[in-house]
Amino acid sequence: MRFVFTKLVAKPTQKSIYKTLAIINLNMKTVKRILKFILVIIGALLVFIAVMLLVDKQSTNYLNSKNIKSANNNSFLITNVNIIPMNQDTVLVNKMVYIKDGISQKIADRIETNGVETLDAKNKYLTPGLIDMHVHVWDRYELGLYLSNGVTAVRNLWGMPMHLRIKEKANNNEIISPIFFTTGPKLTGPEFIGDDNLNLNNPHEAKEKVISFKKRGYDFIKTYYGLDKEIFDAVIEQAKVSNIDIVAHPSQKVPYSYHFNSQIKSIEHVEEIIQQPLNYNLLDTLKLKEVVNDFSKSKHSAFSPTLTVYNNIYQMLINDNILELEQLQFMNPLIKRIDSKAQFDRWHSTKLRDSSIIKAIKNQHDLHIKIIKKLHKEGVTFICGTDAGIGVTIPGFSIHQELAFYKEAGLSNYEVLKTATINASKTHSIMNNMGTIEVGKIANLLLTDSNPLLELSTLKNPSTIFIKGRKLNKDSLENFEEKARNRKNLIASAVRYLEHLIFEK
Ligand SMILES: [Zn+2]
Repeated sequence: MRFVFTKLVAKPTQKSIYKTLAIINLNMKTVKRILKFILVIIGALLVFIAVMLLVDKQSTNYLNSKNIKSANNNSFLITNVNIIPMNQDTVLVNKMVYIKDGISQKIADRIETNGVETLDAKNKYLTPGLIDMHVHVWDRYELGLYLSNGVTAVRNLWGMPMHLRIKEKANNNEIISPIFFTTGPKLTGPEFIGDDNLNLNNPHEAKEKVISFKKRGYDFIKTYYGLDKEIFDAVIEQAKVSNIDIVAHPSQKVPYSYHFNSQIKSIEHVEEIIQQPLNYNLLDTLKLKEVVNDFSKSKHSAFSPTLTVYNNIYQMLINDNILELEQLQFMNPLIKRIDSKAQFDRWHSTKLRDSSIIKAIKNQHDLHIKIIKKLHKEGVTFICGTDAGIGVTIPGFSIHQELAFYKEAGLSNYEVLKTATINASKTHSIMNNMGTIEVGKIANLLLTDSNPLLELSTLKNPSTIFIKGRKLNKDSLENFEEKARNRKNLIASAVRYLEHLIFEK
């Protein structure tokens, strides 16, 4: 043992020290070289990302307010126009509307103004701009698609940092955009893992997130699957204190009736009624009656059925070429490549295994329509939401399909139109200044050639739109659509999504 010890502690010679130093030196050089290489790669990657984001910004600068000549002015006099005010079921025939600084200032038979740009709208109809209460926005191109379809405000329900930036630019009129509202990231319970969700592990964390989302400028809290009572209670309690409304995708960890809380201003998705309280039993009419009763008693809870997105499952099942449809060219390329394709593949392979799925999905959609009919009879407030932006549900265009489904469920044209105007604006106090044509309201307006109360489809083709009093003519709206077609911003979208994954969770 002693021998080994002496060998181990043998004094190093001068030569061996030099040798060791040389090796260390060599190793240091290699490490330095590797570090340098890594830094260069990171640098190159950052430059590449910056260039991609810049290119993306450049290619959407057609939405910059200063690039749209007609949008520089936000004071107008509209003459000879028939107004559908939406605060009552009537048409105000042959009126004048004076818009000053983006606000409807006066509505009368005759208005005298000095030097204000005038728009003669003889034989045309003026409706409040539509509001889509359930969207998922992925890039700025979509803002133009909403506008071209008459949607002048959106509620984005899957908030990420990029949405705060869009909101800011839209609010200070740097870009032409529907008025932009966004929830924070989706709040879920501890075990509902998904890269897009924010998992809450305990009530304390829940409260902290609500406080921080409010502070950072998110408009609403979005609750999602997997919130148990304890955590959900904490979210609600803090939301009350922080004065921020909740939008609920029902959680399966609490009874459905739990969501009729006065802090929860809207409940999303009709299919969740079937999946949760009915437990997929389409024939459980007693349970359905209970849900309908709960909804009708709860006057503060608006319901956003999102019939279109569910019906699109059926569309995927009956059309094997759906991803090649012209309309799909308006989808964000990242979503198209990942989500649209994954959804299509999933349903397609289900169909190949069991073709009865087609009929089952169709039956459920038909039941959705019946549920809307029942809820409508009980006086439930609907708000129009499409779930556009994911799967094959196209931003902007989808709202007309959603409205058509409400009509199919027995709502009159006026009632249908309410879901995307006054009902939507009444849901949250921060939206109260829109949704009708009245003095003092934001001038978000649609001009159409025929009366939407007689023919809803005319809303698909507005000839002019006013967004906060700024005029967008048909050419601008068509240009928005053209620019959004087949866009090539895959990397920019991926970077922004990555930003969400890295910094928001
Ligand atoms: Zn959604």
